[in-house]
Amino acid sequence: MKSTDQDKEQENQKSNSSAQALIDATRISQGAHKVIAELHAAGFQAYLVGGGVRDLLLSLHPKDFDIATDAHPEEVLRLFENSRIIGRRFRIVHVYFPDGMIEVATFRAAGCADTNKQGRIIADNIYGSIEEDAFRRDFTANALFYDPDAVQVLDLVDGRKDIDAKLLRVIGDPNLRFREDPVRMLRAVRLATKLNFEIESQAKDAIYQLGHLLAEVPSARLFDEMLKLFHGGFAQQTFNALCDYNLFQHMFPLTANVLKEKSSDTFSDLVQCALQNTDDRINSGKSVTPAFLYAVFLWGPMRVLSRQLEIEGLSPKVAHEAAVKDTVISQLQYTSIPKRFGYPMRDIWNLQHRFFRKWGKQVFRLYEHPRFRAAYDFLCLRASAGESVDNLCEWWTVFQDVDEATKIKMSRVPRDNNSAIQRRSKPKTYH
Ligand code: ATP
Ligand code: MG
Repeated sequence: MKSTDQDKEQENQKSNSSAQALIDATRISQGAHKVIAELHAAGFQAYLVGGGVRDLLLSLHPKDFDIATDAHPEEVLRLFENSRIIGRRFRIVHVYFPDGMIEVATFRAAGCADTNKQGRIIADNIYGSIEEDAFRRDFTANALFYDPDAVQVLDLVDGRKDIDAKLLRVIGDPNLRFREDPVRMLRAVRLATKLNFEIESQAKDAIYQLGHLLAEVPSARLFDEMLKLFHGGFAQQTFNALCDYNLFQHMFPLTANVLKEKSSDTFSDLVQCALQNTDDRINSGKSVTPAFLYAVFLWGPMRVLSRQLEIEGLSPKVAHEAAVKDTVISQLQYTSIPKRFGYPMRDIWNLQHRFFRKWGKQVFRLYEHPRFRAAYDFLCLRASAGESVDNLCEWWTVFQDVDEATKIKMSRVPRDNNSAIQRRSKPKTYH
């Protein structure tokens, strides 16, 4: 054995011996244990891999568990009743358990993936060995394999050392690996933020050079990635890091353009408040929706366009409707907006001006609207970001708290003024 190989072997043994001490196996889900045990029993190799091992070594609770195996998807499918094959670009098996879903992927061969002219991977279903599978992964910290039965960490890429140094290092040449899959740049920023890791300098430089390649990523994949970026409990920090690396502009160019303007302080505050709010909700176990995220990010560009159309002579209502339509169509070139989120997002926007009408039946119609709560939250965010929405937020907060009789009293049409005028005097602009 060559001395470098000997060194590697020794290091591997060192990392194996310390795995027991470092990995708290009780943090591995029952489902993951079961999948590994059944694959072993059927004579296949099976390891916990990727973020799960990384997080266990960092004493964090893994978000999900991925298993790597030499069994082919059809073989995995046959072993588990509660499973199905998903994906075309990358076929994997989802195995469902009461405590969550486990992803089982067959070892992939490195460098065998189909790429397009720019070098971007379009399909990756050529199976390979565990060594090859380690090297096709994105970062060294994400390429460790853990066998809970043997209590052994297999480190073929020097990942342990990088985890200890809190360094996110691309496996191979960052320029090549980011060209192969530009989403890896977003993953680098997201993981470095979440784990408090430093991105290794060559990879940093590559991100500044290659951010524009995100334009080639299918919009549906960018939508999925957007959820990971902003619904992972670190949205505010991740957003700021994405802006620092000039990546945000390639996902939300309309938003980035408005944020660049000197007069965008209020919008910038709205985005920051909303992301902080999203993090707080996630960290206290409350639900979040991409509809709200979109409503926030696209609010600035939609309003700028709406105002511009008004100046060009359209009525506030027509300008608003045209701006909503145009903004959504423009954003769809970058990230998809599934209808189930696109419609609620429009509702959140369209309800905003109705908060100004604090009298008559319209108050109750708004209050009973299925999107009232989300629209009210959005209104309060606008208020806290310094938008001039008078004291509407307070009025509606009180309105929700009081009993029915007081609600009726609050919404009574004022008699002193000319009520006919009051009723007609809907806001002249869309707020
Ligand atoms: P998280 O904590 O957010 O789940 P993760 O690293 O586990 O982070 P996943 O999306 O769950 O991310 O992916 C699981 C593993 O698959 C990664 O750890 C990595 O080894 C590999 N992987 C995921 N995406 C890519 C990619 N785009 N290129 C190469 N390898 C990838
Ligand atoms: Mg994961």
